[in-house]
Amino acid sequence: MAGVVPRDWRAELQDILPDFFNPPGGGGRARPVCVPECGPGWAGVVDRCCVRIAAALEDRESFRFEDIRSCDGALRIRWAGRLTAPGEAAVRAAIDLAEARSMCVCETCGARGRRFRADGMLATRCPDHAEGVPAFSPAMENVHLIRVTVKGRLRVVVGARYDFETDAFVEIDDVSVLSRGEA
Ligand SMILES: [Zn+2]
Repeated sequence: MAGVVPRDWRAELQDILPDFFNPPGGGGRARPVCVPECGPGWAGVVDRCCVRIAAALEDRESFRFEDIRSCDGALRIRWAGRLTAPGEAAVRAAIDLAEARSMCVCETCGARGRRFRADGMLATRCPDHAEGVPAFSPAMENVHLIRVTVKGRLRVVVGARYDFETDAFVEIDDVSVLSRGEA
């Protein structure tokens, strides 16, 4: 396939889902186009997020991305839309999963990765593209805070671990067990 320039993954997503990335503005005003500012390794993560949202939307609902960028080794997604309560819940769930998945995927090449710290900066990379040292112990990696509850005099931190294979969160009743296990 010499001489064939691969199309940019961002342009392909914008073509398939113009409403998500380049929606018409209200009252004839043009809205800024949302161009994902992250490495090509995360194209699949963004694509998966778009599929989930597109599948969840009802006819009368609208959704658009306002900002998609890489920050501290994770996707950060801002969005807007007119959604029903179930639609909004589905969008939030899709975005939580995408942000969690990005922390398991090399932003450079799309292989399995983890977050590394180099020069005070976090980046998610595979072993081939990694610089610096792993930023989190395996026990605390991919653990996300859900809520803090108080049982008597005890604060219980409830978290969820993102599971890459099933692309889902698994709830952890008490995160402090993990941090104690680290020592
Ligand atoms: Zn890589």
